[in-house]
Amino acid sequence: DRLVDADADGEDTAVEAALRPKDLDEFVGQEKVREQLDLVLKAARARGATADHVLLSGAPGLGKTTLSMIIAAEMNAPIRITSGPAIQHAGDLAAILSSLQEGEVLFLDEIHRMSRPAEEMLYMAMEDFRVDVIVGKGPGATAIPLELPPFTLVGATTRAGLLPPPLRDRFGFTGHMEFYAPAELERVVHRSARLLDVGIDVEGAAEIAGRSRGTPRIANRLLRRVRDYAQVKAEGTIDREIAAAALKVYEVDARGLDRLDRAVLGALLKLFGGGPVGLSTLAVAVGEERETVEEVAEPFLVREGLLARTPRGRVATPAAWAHLGLVPPQHGAK
Ligand code: ADP
Repeated sequence: DRLVDADADGEDTAVEAALRPKDLDEFVGQEKVREQLDLVLKAARARGATADHVLLSGAPGLGKTTLSMIIAAEMNAPIRITSGPAIQHAGDLAAILSSLQEGEVLFLDEIHRMSRPAEEMLYMAMEDFRVDVIVGKGPGATAIPLELPPFTLVGATTRAGLLPPPLRDRFGFTGHMEFYAPAELERVVHRSARLLDVGIDVEGAAEIAGRSRGTPRIANRLLRRVRDYAQVKAEGTIDREIAAAALKVYEVDARGLDRLDRAVLGALLKLFGGGPVGLSTLAVAVGEERETVEEVAEPFLVREGLLARTPRGRVATPAAWAHLGLVPPQHGAK
């Protein structure tokens, strides 16, 4: 359970729900997606029509679920939330689709992880608002067409490139969600602090924002941990000192690296002179599984420009040495 994990697993859903912006104006950042979506929704409302299907791509915790709820709210429509992995059979999808109300928003998280037959059923549903329900088996099987009310599919995926082109093409609008700038995360932190009734000053918010890995979900989670600390160890407003001291307890450093990230980076620098070193060797050195190092620690280290994956192995960048306060060894003349 990492404090800096951007996934929602184990997240307190009630708290998360309380912190969700309710409309586009409250939604911080993502100017481009917001502006485009605003037009799509306004136009649909003016036509009295159901909004086009929307695809949202971006890393976990950037606000895809929140935006889908905002779409429903702005269209004054109910919303149904499910995910690709939850839809094992085409029949599961047929059951959901056939129970939708007119104009309803169907949020399909991790849409790239849907089964193939379900995906094919979805093509037709998106395009013609119709599904073929197969009754019976073998040569006697028949397809019974079923009309669906018009609905808006909001699909979410970590990368739009993972989707088969026929599925991607059926979305009227694709929004690419970016990691948030520190100033935007500061706004998220201030807003959440207000909702949680916690006092925080500008520098305290900046301290939390800087450690949040560009991700609102992480910013909110760090804020809650800092609030606990402030409640127990200090009184009153969260300032820079309290935020830094609290996050030191939780081993989240000034750049948002946690214990695992620092262990990987530290081994790479101290044991292997900054690399190149193979993934398996590095994993053994930190006592973790290969997959943990590769999938949990490395993506953020690469994103931060601290580690590079090269054909010869993992290599630390000069920024990595600087971040851990170490001096790279002199490699002799080239
Ligand atoms: P995703 O579906 O992309 O994993 P969520 O929509 O569940 O992310 O957002 C995670 C948390 O971050 C929510 O509690 C939400 O309140 C907060 N959040 C996400 N985006 C924003 C934003 N733009 N402004 C304010 N809070 C946000």
